[in-house]
Amino acid sequence: MGTGLTQFPYLLMLEQSHTESILVEFLNDHNRHVDRQTELKSFINNDNGVSAILKLPDGKEETIAAKYLVGADGTDSMVREQLKIPFGGKTYEQSLFVLDCKAKVDIPDDEMYLAFSDNAFGGFFHSPTDDGGY
Ligand SMILES: Cc1cc2nc3c(=O)[nH]c(=O)nc-3n(C[C@H](O)[C@H](O)[C@H](O)COP(=O)(O)OP(=O)(O)OC[C@H]3O[C@@H](n4cnc5c(N)ncnc54)[C@H](O)[C@@H]3O)c2cc1C
Repeated sequence: MGTGLTQFPYLLMLEQSHTESILVEFLNDHNRHVDRQTELKSFINNDNGVSAILKLPDGKEETIAAKYLVGADGTDSMVREQLKIPFGGKTYEQSLFVLDCKAKVDIPDDEMYLAFSDNAFGGFFHSPTDDGGY
């Protein structure tokens, strides 16, 4: 793939859930933990940094003070919107469908299968499961 065009003539894929567990593991190793089901409701800048109101999993609200707020809240980021930071990216016009499923297919573990037509394409690749299978 890409032979003669790049010095990296191959495709490497890292499954998203694997990427996520690497990041979570890194945080855990540094005594930092992700609080799930916890929503940032609003925030204000003040002289000491940021004051933020969180909605906790039990529905209660908590106000925390922090030196910084990092907006990593995805494409609909309320942090970006509130700070009026423009979204530099673009949205694909085409619709993409992703299906995670168990299937019996005759594709080697280290290969992916792509099929192209004039206006569409389909791709199939293995994705390891928690039980070590595919
Ligand atoms: C179906 C699909 C499959 C993909 N597969 C891959 C893949 O295999 N490998 C790969 O590299 N990339 C993959 N991508 C792309 C990848 O998902 C994105 O590029 C990446 O997730 C963007 O990361 P992010 O942290 O910026 O945003 P996000 O992953 O969107 O994370 C934002 C997080 O912020 C949270 N959030 C939003 N608002 C608030 C709030 N007010 N309070 C608290 N939390 C909030 C959201 O719940 C979310 O968890 C895939 C994307 C899709 C849609």
